[in-house]
Amino acid sequence: SFRAVLIEKDAAGGQSVGFTRIDETAMMPGDVTIAVERSTINYKDGLAVTGRLPVVRHFPMIPGVDGVGTVIGSESEAFAVGDRVLLNGWGVGELHWGFWAERARVRSEWLIALPPGITGDEAMALGTAGYTAMLAVMALERHEIHPGSGPILVTGAAGGLGSTAVSLLSSLGHHVVAATGRPEEADYLKGLGAAEVIDRAELSGPPRPLSKIRFVGAIDAVGGATLANVLSMIRDFGAVAACGNAGGMDLPGSVAPFILRGVTLYGIESVRAPKAVRTAAWNRLARDMDRAKLAAMTRAIPFDAVLDEARAIVDGRVRGRIVVEIG
Ligand code: NAP
Repeated sequence: SFRAVLIEKDAAGGQSVGFTRIDETAMMPGDVTIAVERSTINYKDGLAVTGRLPVVRHFPMIPGVDGVGTVIGSESEAFAVGDRVLLNGWGVGELHWGFWAERARVRSEWLIALPPGITGDEAMALGTAGYTAMLAVMALERHEIHPGSGPILVTGAAGGLGSTAVSLLSSLGHHVVAATGRPEEADYLKGLGAAEVIDRAELSGPPRPLSKIRFVGAIDAVGGATLANVLSMIRDFGAVAACGNAGGMDLPGSVAPFILRGVTLYGIESVRAPKAVRTAAWNRLARDMDRAKLAAMTRAIPFDAVLDEARAIVDGRVRGRIVVEIG
């Protein structure tokens, strides 16, 4: 048997969460079995553990949308015992048992080999948050937004996705404006390369159709009124990559930025992104992520501490990224 976190539905329709031991015979179907080394905590894991949004759609559930480990059993041609593998998304931790466990059994088509030049710890320090930030950076690049094009805004900047986006953009040579609700993290964000740090309150008032132009592009982790305000501040023909909903699922804005300024809104979806897209993003992370900045934004915790930190992340109290040490 192996140790795992399990979310169970209770009779009252609520849920309970705790550590338990699970027998290998009870594992969900999959053609690759993994001895898990590291996982991480994404915002979505916090939602799963607290039940604040119904991200878990199969009970009981082992949370943990990201994991890295070594193959210990394989019926797949693609992976052999001893291979180091990485998984982000695909409904793992939502529909299929995830990586807050000493063992995981998954479908081989969800796995990629641990990218060359990235350690297991680095892969989880990045995790879905970092890989999604890279997908957003790549969307802005495809839009021909390059270093020197103008200021780029990152919202939710002190969070995991935001911290990685700030680091990546600044290392690539962009002028990065970081928006945060935690002014005490200004030095941290400048250390990651932010040229300016602004109070997120500047972006949270009632959105106007068009506002004074401030940015050529943006990576948004927040959604809601923040995203609507951001869109109203983007320069003609600029672009925003919408990644998250930490501030709300709604989008209370107007079409004015689209039809009067030609602004483009890109949707970033990491969970079901095809393998080629994933591999491209991970290879870019291996090349472009400044390892000193990654270390500065990351903290390792023992498996036992995972539930407390998961509750903290949905309250906006986690800075940067967390690596969960499992095996
Ligand atoms: P995180 O570490 O909790 O970061 C979220 C940050 O958003 C917080 O640190 C906070 O930053 C800010 N924030 C929180 N509540 C807010 C509020 N009410 N109003 C305004 N800002 C608020 O979470 P994460 O793991 O980086 O994920 C960020 C978002 O991206 C989440 O919504 C997550 O679901 C989403 N996401 C989406 C994908 C995808 O495939 N599209 C992949 C990964 C993550 P400050 O304290 O700096 O203000």
